Amino acid sequence: MKDRNFLDTVMEFEQQLETLQQQYIDLKKYVAQMVEDHQAIQTENLHLRRRLEELLSTDPTDESSNEEKVSLLDIGEGYDNLARLYQEGFHVCHVHFGGSRKGEDCLFCLSFLNKQNA
Ligand SMILES: [Zn+2]
Repeated sequence: MKDRNFLDTVMEFEQQLETLQQQYIDLKKYVAQMVEDHQAIQTENLHLRRRLEELLSTDPTDESSNEEKVSLLDIGEGYDNLARLYQEGFHVCHVHFGGSRKGEDCLFCLSFLNKQNA
């Protein structure tokens, strides 16, 4: 009877180890994904900063205002970036720009994206 209990205990312990190992593997995958996402965001941030600096850098021969230049950025590639940012869960509207949507749709963002896509 004692031996039987000991065997049960060992098997239970083994199962716990397997569960822990699986959790550890999942955690490692999660961290790897986070690092990847972080790098992608950093790269995109740098890219966007450069684009913005390019667009806002003062060119005395260019008479269009900064707002006009920024609206040019919003067309095409800019739209794709904003749409992706929205898909990834962030606000792209003027009201909450860059903030987390916390999994909820935002009417400001949607109407902004619709206008850009028109
Ligand atoms: Zn929004």
